[in-house]
Amino acid sequence: MPTRMVKKLVGSVELLGYSLAGEETVIAVPELNVGFDFGRAPRELIAIDHVCLSHGHMDHAAGVAYYFSQRHFLDNAPGCAILHADLVEPVRRLLRAWADIEGHPSPAKLVGLQPGEDHRIRRDLLVRAFAVAHPPPSLGFAVIETRNKLKPEYAGYSGPQLVGLKKKGIEIEYRLEVPRVAYCGDTAAGAFLERPEVTNAEILLLECTFIDDDHMHRARAGQHLHIRDLGRILPRLACKHIVLTHLTRRSPLKRAKQLLAEMLDADTASRVVFLMDRPSGRRGQSPDESR
Ligand SMILES: [Zn+2]
Repeated sequence: MPTRMVKKLVGSVELLGYSLAGEETVIAVPELNVGFDFGRAPRELIAIDHVCLSHGHMDHAAGVAYYFSQRHFLDNAPGCAILHADLVEPVRRLLRAWADIEGHPSPAKLVGLQPGEDHRIRRDLLVRAFAVAHPPPSLGFAVIETRNKLKPEYAGYSGPQLVGLKKKGIEIEYRLEVPRVAYCGDTAAGAFLERPEVTNAEILLLECTFIDDDHMHRARAGQHLHIRDLGRILPRLACKHIVLTHLTRRSPLKRAKQLLAEMLDADTASRVVFLMDRPSGRRGQSPDESR
């Protein structure tokens, strides 16, 4: 079966995703073994061990039960959903209902987080939840690589000297955090855009739902970003790559790219791509070409 997922190389990181407002949003980062939102749980997501759910709207959350069921069916380890703590119980109820319907339960790990809380997914990798500006309960997530580094004041010390310090209980290392990918889910502009794990993320996945000037009221009412917001927001970010998601089907991608090019300086523009802008050579599959 042909996949609807877009494959995108962003720097050296491969993203697999599909994101159109109101229809479906799902993004997988196989290198980090992390996904963002379930969408309708395409097979590319089933292979991913940790999926962060930004909020409960159906276009983002529909596939949660299918994800766990498929992992069980394929004899994979149970898989893990990382989600707002307030959504854990409702999702558990959904999984219980599906267990009744299917006739057996599918093992599922649900990790509930509040804004600001971390969950470690690998020895050197953690997921940090942060608050976004969308009807609650909603979260954004940053996947942060952590490295232990020698404190600069001990740089000239020999191995045995460092061992001696450690034995005395002196902390000779500090933790360096390298934000790899930040995902903001659905959101309007907000304080999260000042957070270091967002502004310094190697890859920022940011929504841009509306582009038409007469859709500004829709953006404000639904707490979404309008492309006019991005003219202010994007130049202030230090992210190497900014990937825009969640564009409405109402608006052609070509027009969105044109508007961005007009609004942004060359440096900022060179860092921005649209997730759904399929690589050339895949004719007839891009959302703007199909309409
Ligand atoms: Zn949405």
